[in-house]
Amino acid sequence: MGGALGVPGGVLSSGAHPSAAAAPAAAPSLPPELPAGLEAYRTPYINWAGEITHHGLWACAPRTGQDLADLANWAHGNGWRLRARGKAHNWSPLTITGPTESDQRVLLLDTTRHLTRMELVTPPAGAPGAVRAQTGVTLEALTEFLAGHGLGVTNTPAPGELTLGGTLAIDAHGTSVPATGETARPGHTYGTLSNLVLSVTAVVWDAARSTYVVRTFHRGSDKECEALAAHVGRGLVAEVVLQAGEEMPLRCQSRVDLSSDELFAPPGSALAGRGNTFADFLDRSGRVEAIWFAFTDKPWLKVWSLSPERPPTARTVHHPYNYPFSDSVPTPVARLAGRMLGEAAWYLAPAFGAAQYTVAATGLAATFATDLWGAAHNLQFYLRPTTLRETANGYAVLTRRADVQRVVSQFAAYYSEQLRTRAARGEFPVNGQVEIRVGGLDRPEESAAPGARPPLLSVVRPPVDRPEFDCAVWIDVLTQPTTPGAHAFYRDLERFLLATFDGGYALTRVEWSKGWAYTDTEAWADQEVIGTTVPSSYGPGQWAEAIGVLDRLDPHSVFGNAFTDRLLRV
Ligand SMILES: Cc1cc2nc3c(=O)[nH]c(=O)nc-3n(C[C@H](O)[C@H](O)[C@H](O)COP(=O)(O)OP(=O)(O)OC[C@H]3O[C@@H](n4cnc5c(N)ncnc54)[C@H](O)[C@@H]3O)c2cc1C
Repeated sequence: MGGALGVPGGVLSSGAHPSAAAAPAAAPSLPPELPAGLEAYRTPYINWAGEITHHGLWACAPRTGQDLADLANWAHGNGWRLRARGKAHNWSPLTITGPTESDQRVLLLDTTRHLTRMELVTPPAGAPGAVRAQTGVTLEALTEFLAGHGLGVTNTPAPGELTLGGTLAIDAHGTSVPATGETARPGHTYGTLSNLVLSVTAVVWDAARSTYVVRTFHRGSDKECEALAAHVGRGLVAEVVLQAGEEMPLRCQSRVDLSSDELFAPPGSALAGRGNTFADFLDRSGRVEAIWFAFTDKPWLKVWSLSPERPPTARTVHHPYNYPFSDSVPTPVARLAGRMLGEAAWYLAPAFGAAQYTVAATGLAATFATDLWGAAHNLQFYLRPTTLRETANGYAVLTRRADVQRVVSQFAAYYSEQLRTRAARGEFPVNGQVEIRVGGLDRPEESAAPGARPPLLSVVRPPVDRPEFDCAVWIDVLTQPTTPGAHAFYRDLERFLLATFDGGYALTRVEWSKGWAYTDTEAWADQEVIGTTVPSSYGPGQWAEAIGVLDRLDPHSVFGNAFTDRLLRV
């Protein structure tokens, strides 16, 4: 039998991916005949920011893990590649790579239709709870289910409309480190969702039987589990078991009155001594996000704190998404966005930033949203899919907690200087916001699985040679996808981050789901970053080990695309 995509059968060594070996066969115009009663249908694909689109790929909606294995064997035998898709909200080309793939034999697997079961399971010692969940479940449904049993997680991404499979694939994070005096709570991690994984049930190649099978791997005893817990698009996962901790209500206070100069002041400066730096808030409550609209000088600061009781001034909320003004674009903002995009009036970026700030400031006051209290998941999710669809770059800067303010201040100084000098030249590459959050690393000690190791490709895998690093500053800069000069701006910013946080007092890693490896004109294109910088940010041994496991689990590269072929290799 021939291997995937026309490559002769047998194990492919790392780096010899099928797409590199042979021109892929074109997809048929009639629906492919799928195994076991599965029906193929055409579906368009549009990722979050509309940067990766396809007018119609063949797809199906698998019902069980066995369906996934049957599909893998069918794909292997017929020269197709499989791409699981959740909500398609990812930015980076991990599902499909765009129009270049238009004729290729790529079958999308929609997990959201049937793979949505959840049940509590007996937790291991050291965790109050555990849940078995299929990968098509949304984070909103998962956390609501957990909350119904008094359980919760510490970190989630801001939107709840993302699937578990999609977020584990990219090592999804929220924002939290221990506040001063806070002790770790059993079952929780300050790291990513992937660090909650106790077992992974995935489709993998069984070499002895020469077939793809469904197999369960356990954290601590099977290193396949740690490879699959954050596989960056190189796995096919049916379900996972996650540990969970006791749910504790949160309070979220918003401020829009502090200047960026003060919040991001360099450590030791006069402004930093007033107790209002980003790091001061982090020490006080452990959970902070700064949203800094372009060309404005007062960020929207959100500060969450653990709060078993409702503080007298806080308004109780019973649902997530409590900032409606940031979920549906108000008219003044929409008008400016319309002019920027429709008339190429990019010089309106400062007015656009100011309008967004005004909407946030007045919206917070008008909706009594500056001080909220409620179940954790109701405060952890605060972005709906109706929010502005911008493009984003993304990096995690790993460092010591004591150096967070240094990282933040260096970034802020560079960013505002860039905006200033470019504006003076009549260039406005950024019209969205900067988002800064801080999370813990994926410490194995926070896993209840005995012998656990960090997820191998976790963005916040603790660097072996930097044991003193204990947190990561997550930085994103957002702008409208077609903004002129954005790629060049992002490229320069990336070079600044890589050069400034080069592994000395801080280390830059790319955030899998977002934009990185910029050239002047494209994201995910700088081969030096893709082929050298990213792997070396993990350490050559660590990178090779992860890729080795993923290649062994899928030696025929059924799960992957042209981009993962270039990225996930040694
Ligand atoms: C507005 C917005 C805000 C965001 N905020 C955050 C944030 O706060 N923190 C954060 O970490 N991320 C954030 N993200 C990024 C988000 O977490 C990722 O893009 C995530 O991958 C999206 O999930 P999805 O269900 O849409 O996955 P998709 O985009 O559908 O898929 C993403 C990847 O996962 C793979 N995949 C999906 N299901 C499976 C499966 N069952 N088995 C194997 N692979 C699978 C896909 O093949 C693809 O490679 C945000 C995204 C948006 C759009």
